[in-house]
Amino acid sequence: MATPFIATILGAPRIGPNRELKRAIEGYWAGRLRRSELEQAAEDLRRNTLTSLAAAGLDSVPVNTFSYYDQVLDTAVLLGALPARVLSISDSLDRYFAAARGTADVPPLEMTKWFDTNYHYIVPEIAPDTVFTLHPEKVLAEFAEARTLGVSARPVLIGPVTFLALSKAVDGGVPPIERIDELVPLYSELLTRLADAGAEWVQIDEPVLVTDQLNDATELAHRVYTEIAGGTRRPAIVVATYFGGLDGALVALARTPVEAIALDLVAGDVQAVRSIAELADKLVVAGVVDGRNVWRTNLENALDTLTALQGSVGAVAVSTSCSTMHVPYALDAESGLDDSLRTWLAFGDEKVFEVATLAAALRDGRECVAAEIDASNSAVASRAGDPRLHVDAVRARLSAVVTEGAARSPASERRRAQDARLNLPPLPTTTIGSYPQTPDIRNARAALRSGAVTAEEYQQQMRDEITKVIRLQEDIGLDVLVHGEPERNDMVQYFAEQLDGFFATENGWVQSYGTRCVRPPILFGDVVRRRPMTVEWSTFAQSLTDKPVKGMLTGPVTILAWSFVRDDQPLADTANQIALAIRDETKDLQGAGIAIIQVDEPALRELLPLRAKEQGSYLEWAVGAFRLATSGVDDATQIHTHLCYSEFGEVIGAIADLDADVTSIEAARSHMEVLEDLNSVGFSNSVGPGVYDIHSPRVPSTEEMITALREAMNAIPAERLWVNPDCGLKTRRTDEVTAALQNMVAAAQAVRP
Ligand code: GLN
Ligand code: ZN
Repeated sequence: MATPFIATILGAPRIGPNRELKRAIEGYWAGRLRRSELEQAAEDLRRNTLTSLAAAGLDSVPVNTFSYYDQVLDTAVLLGALPARVLSISDSLDRYFAAARGTADVPPLEMTKWFDTNYHYIVPEIAPDTVFTLHPEKVLAEFAEARTLGVSARPVLIGPVTFLALSKAVDGGVPPIERIDELVPLYSELLTRLADAGAEWVQIDEPVLVTDQLNDATELAHRVYTEIAGGTRRPAIVVATYFGGLDGALVALARTPVEAIALDLVAGDVQAVRSIAELADKLVVAGVVDGRNVWRTNLENALDTLTALQGSVGAVAVSTSCSTMHVPYALDAESGLDDSLRTWLAFGDEKVFEVATLAAALRDGRECVAAEIDASNSAVASRAGDPRLHVDAVRARLSAVVTEGAARSPASERRRAQDARLNLPPLPTTTIGSYPQTPDIRNARAALRSGAVTAEEYQQQMRDEITKVIRLQEDIGLDVLVHGEPERNDMVQYFAEQLDGFFATENGWVQSYGTRCVRPPILFGDVVRRRPMTVEWSTFAQSLTDKPVKGMLTGPVTILAWSFVRDDQPLADTANQIALAIRDETKDLQGAGIAIIQVDEPALRELLPLRAKEQGSYLEWAVGAFRLATSGVDDATQIHTHLCYSEFGEVIGAIADLDADVTSIEAARSHMEVLEDLNSVGFSNSVGPGVYDIHSPRVPSTEEMITALREAMNAIPAERLWVNPDCGLKTRRTDEVTAALQNMVAAAQAVRP
């Protein structure tokens, strides 16, 4: 076997510690940067990453984890699997960006979530006439670049099983996975090219093996890797899996000639690994440092896991559980952390240090890292003993409410009370919450941060904005208005900044997709709402109009999904604590005269566990938390929810169980199919299927929205139907929004009984 390594990570972030890549790419798109300047910026980032990983003590460093947009799109390029519509663009980088984001003439490929993370990948399209061909230039170039720097580099590829499982069939093609035998020879050829280039190791990522997405994953894994590893001129292979345990596929892989298997031992179980005799001659790359959450590793526990493994497998290397692209770069960019909190955390750089420390302990004995182990132990003790993690009042209240039950009256009774109070026309029109985040709004927020305006001035600017948005909605003739959310930088961070138990980072950026980055807050402690968070804005908006204004809140599951969440108690308990804070907010909104409150749960589908056997209990607590958040109000207060960004198939029953009075849901792109699905689970509350897609700047015509509404009325009786766009409007321009909503209101009037 090739020389085993002992310290690595499965992949690194690429956006740059200060989002340099985002700036460079967006500059290139806008024509401000030349191609050569973009390439130079990218090369600088890659070089810094490689040299700092090597300097930190990794003896095998991942390469080819850089990307101008997305690693799955890179793999489509590698395998010659771009759709015909972009192939006419001759320049390869422009073609790549066209596939990712479209051009005036070419629609982009779809984007969807990477397993259960918040990263979105580009979904490859496989057509009957797709001919797979090998284009290894990127990986070869990045490998050569690393060699020039003297770094011991390990090229990383997405494996053929995962690539095809994540692709979608188009133009009537077969399910892509059925074409696996066409890819295997390409991977074999690629491995030969990498061996010729001097690669000793290659990492092939197969995270799909930790899901239940394929019926025959075990058989497939065995067959594909027996073949790929059967080649004679190739680097040693690590098959990397992450985001869960492998179950049966682990034995299957162990029975192939691959030299190493990378396992997520944060999500998966080490005992299952120890019982597999076939691992006796394999290198196990043990993912004991959490690559996707921000907590400092308990080094003592991790070392116990590693030493337990050492006895039963061929060799052990220390690693992160997955690529560190899911966590921010480094803690030292955070000046606002208090001293204790700082010691509990590990971002990307700190995780690399932990890996190197654990590897040193394996190699030279625990004594030589005694100081690091002590520091880790004190951090664990400090975290466990911190009063902010155990607020008795919250815990007592929570158990009281949970025992009391979080039930509302039957939907029909609520409906009667709400109809009498609200007096809305049939097919009421509304929007999802946000209005365009104009440059004025963003400038005002920046000015507040920098101290250029006072809090009072900022508040006045937001009030002016709300006033504008209310007037606009009245002019358009909408029935249920919103305040427009100008004061919110982000629908989760806005609440995190006001709740105890959260820390909002200054520079904790992680890539969400392409050049879009997000800053998930860190939920470290018990959640306490100190004071009302939204009431002032909502009551101000309501004071401007006789139409009802919806209060606008983010739901507990979505707040969890878009934060880094404490790992010292079940997610369900944390969700319920957030739910309690939202519940208090709904009561305050109601007390202030707000008649309709929307609690958004766009991330309900995102947290769904990858393994089928865990999904039922997730949905139970997720629905429970939503109901806890929304059941504190009177019958006459109407609860709305909003869902988007996903195929709802697997969670459709849960959507019905949320029992919101009105559910607005993304449907424009799926042609209202979701309504039939809701009917099939007996859903009988009101629903607002999105009648147009807000993700495009195109203004939909009245006629097409009439068609959409007629389609909807075939599935749902008019008395249960609402009319709205399919998501919030914050990314659009005011002129687009105004025209689209005018047409939408006209469409509703045209079909009203
Ligand atoms: N109320 C939010 C908005 O309109 C909902 C956003 C979302 O669904 N992601 O912006
Ligand atoms: Zn939405």
